Amino acid sequence: MIIVMQGNATEQDIEDVVKRVEKFGYAAKVLSGELRTVIAALGDARDKERLQSLESLNHVESVMPILKPYKLCSREVRAEKTIIDVNGVKIGGKKLVVMAGPCSVESQEQLTETGNSVKKAGAEILRGGAFKPRTSPYSFQGMEEEGLKLLKEVSEATGMPFVTEVMNPREVELVHRYADIIQIGARNVQNFSLLKEVGKMEKPILLKRGLATTIDEWLMSAEYILSEGNDKVILCERGIRTFEKATRNTLDLSAIPVVKEKSHLPVIVDPSHGTGYWQYVETMSLAAVAAGADGLMIEVHWKPEEAFSDGPQSLKPEKFAALMDKVRKVAESVGREA
Ligand code: PEP
Ligand code: MN
Repeated sequence: MIIVMQGNATEQDIEDVVKRVEKFGYAAKVLSGELRTVIAALGDARDKERLQSLESLNHVESVMPILKPYKLCSREVRAEKTIIDVNGVKIGGKKLVVMAGPCSVESQEQLTETGNSVKKAGAEILRGGAFKPRTSPYSFQGMEEEGLKLLKEVSEATGMPFVTEVMNPREVELVHRYADIIQIGARNVQNFSLLKEVGKMEKPILLKRGLATTIDEWLMSAEYILSEGNDKVILCERGIRTFEKATRNTLDLSAIPVVKEKSHLPVIVDPSHGTGYWQYVETMSLAAVAAGADGLMIEVHWKPEEAFSDGPQSLKPEKFAALMDKVRKVAESVGREA
């Protein structure tokens, strides 16, 4: 249920409602918007009549059920878009945010060269995997903490915050110590223990859509993170599995307007994993921006033919720079900046 306060409600009125909600056995979450404050009462909705009685309190406008199964990430609870500030880079605002870098961190030279080139082309966030979810146990598994140290070093040298994946609840604390944004990969989108663990953390979480996850299931996964207290969630569409084999995944661009209607969270698109081939990355990046994405995540490698992972879908630095020029033009044409 949500308790909507009147515009002139005081801190004291809000506090009073929170206390009563908690007394009824619900968790109360205060969401202050520009126009009104809403209190979400989270828990078993069976005895909702008790919550309904709060309607008679001072400065309570209405008490309403939240119709969607996801609550905190829904537009019902928060009408305004969420903007997430990552060390000064704002995700979800007018300006598009491009995250770029190699699939895996491989060496200091590789990350430095690639990091410098994406920064020069206009990327604002560095990406790179130190813990890699590989289909085969015999494939390169990542540089682990050594990789995190390199990411931190290149991030500091270039001034770009960085995003990197965590795969295991046991490593959340370690990754959190280094990373500016923690990525939950497609394969872990319904790893609920991992979601709860990152939900307890301070830093923003980038939540990829799963290979076979519906939009509602994906939003329920975001709800796990928000319900633990971390409301800084960035959603990332990265393609779903369909019968089509010409591309690695089928990039679901219609997910962008759908998610934006249902949720206030920012949505970015990863056309690298979405298509699997560098040749299609530029086209789908432009389409994603036109469709309203808040940003892009793109794999770039200084020598894609030598990449330890995802070489075929990685752009060379000069191709990435050319893509950025086009992205800026499309962004402008749809009322955004890049
Ligand atoms: C990645 O970003 O390198 C990655 C493994 O992505 P996904 O989880 O979308 O496959
Ligand atoms: Mn990859």
